[in-house]
Amino acid sequence: MKDRLLLMIPGPIEFTPEVMRAMGMPTTSHIAPNFIEVFGQVLERLREVFLCPDGQPFVVAGSGTLAMDMAAANLVEPGDRALVVNTGVFGDRFAAILERYGAEVTQVQAPVVGEVPALEEVEATLRTADYKLMTITHVDTSTGVAADVKALAELGRRYGALVVVDGVCAVAGEEMRQQEWGIDIALTASQKAIGVPPGLALLVAGPRAMETFRQRKTPVTNYYADWSNWLPIMEAYEARRVAYFGTPPVNLIWALNVSLGQILGEGMETRFERHRRLSQAMKAAVRAMGLEQVPRRPEIGAHTLTAPYFPEGIDRSVLARIRAAGVIVAGGLHPAIKDRYFRIGHMGAVSPSDILTTVGAIERGLIEAGYDLKPGLGLTAAQAVLAEG
Ligand code: PMP
Repeated sequence: MKDRLLLMIPGPIEFTPEVMRAMGMPTTSHIAPNFIEVFGQVLERLREVFLCPDGQPFVVAGSGTLAMDMAAANLVEPGDRALVVNTGVFGDRFAAILERYGAEVTQVQAPVVGEVPALEEVEATLRTADYKLMTITHVDTSTGVAADVKALAELGRRYGALVVVDGVCAVAGEEMRQQEWGIDIALTASQKAIGVPPGLALLVAGPRAMETFRQRKTPVTNYYADWSNWLPIMEAYEARRVAYFGTPPVNLIWALNVSLGQILGEGMETRFERHRRLSQAMKAAVRAMGLEQVPRRPEIGAHTLTAPYFPEGIDRSVLARIRAAGVIVAGGLHPAIKDRYFRIGHMGAVSPSDILTTVGAIERGLIEAGYDLKPGLGLTAAQAVLAEG
């Protein structure tokens, strides 16, 4: 029997064999002609995946938090006002990062865990002061809540704020049209829907963000994150020229090129639709099994993960039973509800059969833990949604 477990957490995800092969190939020099070509292609393809033809991509070794740090370090000067639209733990993190660079941060909080702040409240706050920037977490991985990025970005722009989107749990899974929606910075990390092992911070900055950076009156106070160091490198690789600031993670960038090729091969519209469909199937299964979800309303549920509460009488020990049935799902993350819910990631190369395998394992885990559930209820609901596609 195969002893391989299916990894269905909200990052790192399962990667395609082609991506893993690129990770394992002999490492080239970072100035080898074939690597320069690959890095150049990566930068061009990122514009297509972020749907931001006039953006400046940055690819830097680090995790998603470095991408957040980079956005804050390069845009914020001491005393600038920043507004954080907070839908969970990663909004808290952005606020802390912005404060570290001297921003005066105002947060608009969701009224309860699993909700989003009302647009009217965000607008009322934007009216009260001159905000230099506003951050939005597209999908907060701690709650499974998706923000209405399009409407929020429109609001931010109307009030003259730069719009920064933390798309770590969203880019290449959730619909996001950076240029059309007026997003000044969108950022992510390699290990989620982008489909590459952890280790890359990815960011695309639009013209207004780059202009704001160029007009700074004070130097960037983070040496590694400073775009003054990285911009010439990105420009050089894209022009297929040699450049060096810090050694790029050669194999990760090679793997990223493979994954971006696969993403664009599928096509962004098809990919958004696949994520929607698979998410609907998982959520239908969860409902059919009688489990509530952290997002309070279906319209604000992410398509990249599902966050169900444990049913009455079941606790997190069920996760080990689900694992024994062959699937790894994640525990809770939001401190207010940490032990009451779990998280199922379904982004990237995930397939309908991964969804069915996962639902089957959750059913078995719950039944073995003593939950009164008719086997197959969740599977039937998921199958019905998948059959519509
Ligand atoms: N933002 C969001 C929405 C995330 O989900 C994560 C990671 N779970 C991060 C930021 C931070 O990314 P990383 O762990 O790669 O630093």
